[in-house]
Amino acid sequence: MTRPTRGARGGRRAGTVALISLGCAKNLVDSEVMLGAFKGAGYAIVDRAEDADLVIVNTCGFIGPAREEAEATLRGVLRLKRRDPAKRIVAAGCYVERDRARLERAFPGVDAWTGVRDFDRIVGIVEGRAGRPRERTFLYSDTSPRLVSTPGAWSYVKISEGCSHRCGFCAIPLIKGPYVSRSPASIVREVRTLAGLGVKEIDLVSHDTTWFGRDRGLENGLARLLVRLSRIEGVAWIRFLYGYPEEIDDALLEAMTRPGICRYLDIPFQHADPGMVKAMRRGMDGARALRLLERIRAKLPDVAVRTSLIVGFPGEGRTEFAALRRFVEEARFDHLGVFAFSPEAGTPACRLADTVGPEEKEARRAEIMEIQARVSRGVNARRVGRTIEVLVESPEPGATGLWIGRGRFQAPEVDGVVRFALPAGLSEPPAAVVEVEVTSSSDYDLAGRLAA
Ligand code: SF4
Repeated sequence: MTRPTRGARGGRRAGTVALISLGCAKNLVDSEVMLGAFKGAGYAIVDRAEDADLVIVNTCGFIGPAREEAEATLRGVLRLKRRDPAKRIVAAGCYVERDRARLERAFPGVDAWTGVRDFDRIVGIVEGRAGRPRERTFLYSDTSPRLVSTPGAWSYVKISEGCSHRCGFCAIPLIKGPYVSRSPASIVREVRTLAGLGVKEIDLVSHDTTWFGRDRGLENGLARLLVRLSRIEGVAWIRFLYGYPEEIDDALLEAMTRPGICRYLDIPFQHADPGMVKAMRRGMDGARALRLLERIRAKLPDVAVRTSLIVGFPGEGRTEFAALRRFVEEARFDHLGVFAFSPEAGTPACRLADTVGPEEKEARRAEIMEIQARVSRGVNARRVGRTIEVLVESPEPGATGLWIGRGRFQAPEVDGVVRFALPAGLSEPPAAVVEVEVTSSSDYDLAGRLAA
């Protein structure tokens, strides 16, 4: 495994590769495995598709807007190919796995296709010596070459693939199959390697991180993994994302009291109204979710909680939506994301009449975000005056002496950031993790200065 050395060449010059990674953090890890394979085979990695002999688009096929983005990206790189016919285009990932035949017809200019089973064989695929696709979704290990591409001193670590839940709206189990965990030992080795490369924040990802280990017969798999990871020297903190509400138990909360584990929970509740939750084939309605939050906050008073919700699910009338609004007001989440329901072929929800029109879905999405902006403003205001640990990410573009970082309560890419000023005479932060005195706040971000 290596940290990014974009543009760096391996031994033999085999050509230049650019990779466009769409979708989620899980997809990004697979993209990094593909980059590692190319680097190992002597290809040079370049940032821009314009500059590459070979362009890989790692697609997301989770919901309608993600598929539209994937198609727009393919159209864009195929336009480059029209100007430069020697350029080769490869489409990979979830959307290809889901709908390859139709995509092949729609994009005949794409040179090679691969779904989610053979990321590690990508070089063979582009060089025309791939065998038959594997039977199941690829899951990397600590021995897979991987070129970590995230900026600053943080990295995702994917701990499993697939999902064994059957939420009514979700196509993930159809695309990726049932849940498969990596071995805890492989994850520990990978995190040790990352720590040796200077990574300070580890973000554990999967489709359901709290299910970790069950397919291997492990009890309290995630809690025990966190305890092992928290002992690795050099890592400042570890966070896990995508927890399933019913799987947040005492053993997990106890593990989260350890100093190296972020008191941060990402629990997608999806909805609060009991009828909606049932129709979504999920188990926890708003009343139970509020009790769970109370239990979590009693054990971890400084915890930050993120959730994601779906608006416009079939049958969501004004009453059901009002229940969701009340829930968002009462739950006081630190961070929240909302999706408009998108009917996905093959899922139970797709057979229900899509009763909420697109404009109404968007209006409801905006309404929830408006409530959350108010909640988040209040949550952030309480952090003013405190001194917090911040993981440095990058200089603020176009501003001298101003840097961007994140606290333990902010996950990368989805939550807010901390902007902080350096004292005169210092051109960069003195360490990867620094202390920042928070001086002001806005709806989602904080601002401050390097603590003396
Ligand atoms: S737990 Fe998440 S990934 Fe699994 S089926 Fe439900 S929504 Fe999809």
